[in-house]
Amino acid sequence: MEIPFVSFLPMERELDSVLRGAFERVYARSWYIGGVEDKEFEKVFADYCGVNYCVGTGNGLDALMLILKALGIGDGDQVIVPSNTYIATALAVTYVGAEPVFVEPDIRTFNIEPVKIEEKISPRTRAIMPVHLYGQPCDMDPIMDIAKRYRLYVVEDSAQSHGAVYKGRKIGTFGHASGFSFYPGKNLGALGDAGAVVSNDRELISKVRALGNYGSDYKYHHLYQGNNSRLDELQAAFLSAKLPYLEKMNKERKRIARMYLDGIKNPAVVLPYVLPGTEPVWHIFAIRCKCREQLEKYLNDHGVGTAKHYPIPIHMQECYRELGIKKGDLPIAEEISVTELSLPMYYGMKDEEIEYVIQIINQFGKSLQESVNE
Ligand SMILES: *Cc1c(COP(=O)(O)O)cnc(C)c1O
Repeated sequence: MEIPFVSFLPMERELDSVLRGAFERVYARSWYIGGVEDKEFEKVFADYCGVNYCVGTGNGLDALMLILKALGIGDGDQVIVPSNTYIATALAVTYVGAEPVFVEPDIRTFNIEPVKIEEKISPRTRAIMPVHLYGQPCDMDPIMDIAKRYRLYVVEDSAQSHGAVYKGRKIGTFGHASGFSFYPGKNLGALGDAGAVVSNDRELISKVRALGNYGSDYKYHHLYQGNNSRLDELQAAFLSAKLPYLEKMNKERKRIARMYLDGIKNPAVVLPYVLPGTEPVWHIFAIRCKCREQLEKYLNDHGVGTAKHYPIPIHMQECYRELGIKKGDLPIAEEISVTELSLPMYYGMKDEEIEYVIQIINQFGKSLQESVNE
């Protein structure tokens, strides 16, 4: 059996007419930037999240960067970010001229460990950026508590967790603002690049909107030296068309995750841990294995696609050499980078495909043992 790491085909088949309809509607109107589709999506996505305001952006990285810029964070400031995340989180911080300060994750959940945040707070700290990685909500209560005590902003990186729930409330609604990505592979994906900022702070949202539109509040009037990062009409139309299906698609991911969690039984494999009180949306199903490279090759040889999230931690990337953080300084992020393996997870995976992945993983090691004995 061949099972890709990810496939959009089942979703595209199901939504074919809906997506073509969205295209036709925008094309017939010949209006591509800053129109009714953008407004409509901002409204429905804010409603979906349970916040008052939303502003569309060009992508998720810009969403995060524009929030930091709008909060006035820049040169000389520090922002606390997890050491285990996609590089965009750190790039948003350095783009505005601030310094990322890395905090190690709880290796069981892969997410930032709240008790380790406090020791990294300095007089220059302005914000904490929790990342709800792989679809798993961060432990927001202690994070919000620390932020309150130290008067810090909380900016949620929600790029991988559309619809995930922490203690009955959707993620993206805890911090001062939250950035989403609609990169095609995300749980809610556009047919290209797209992103959004959500917040209950009206002033912050108008500032983000202006900053993403050349710093302009109305035509040819520029308040700030802004960026060009807007959600275009086509992507907004696609997103509005797909949003009503997000819950259904997340439910499918939860079903796949449940089957993996119940079915995978191999002492060489550590399954993801779900923090009590949270409902993850399984953007990625991340397992850990000491012999990751062998397991990956074994799975690929048996037709099961895999991926690594992420093979080189941010502090060991060439582009962040200037931060002066050495190998060994963030051991948990480093451990995850060499042990994490992501299993196939996408809407439309069939039962027999999920069962095949489980069966193949459960046989891993047995065949290794056999080949040793031969
Ligand atoms: C995808 C992603 C981003 C960036 O989103 P883009 O739309 O690709 O710019 C930011 N943070 C995390 C955790 C992501 O996974």
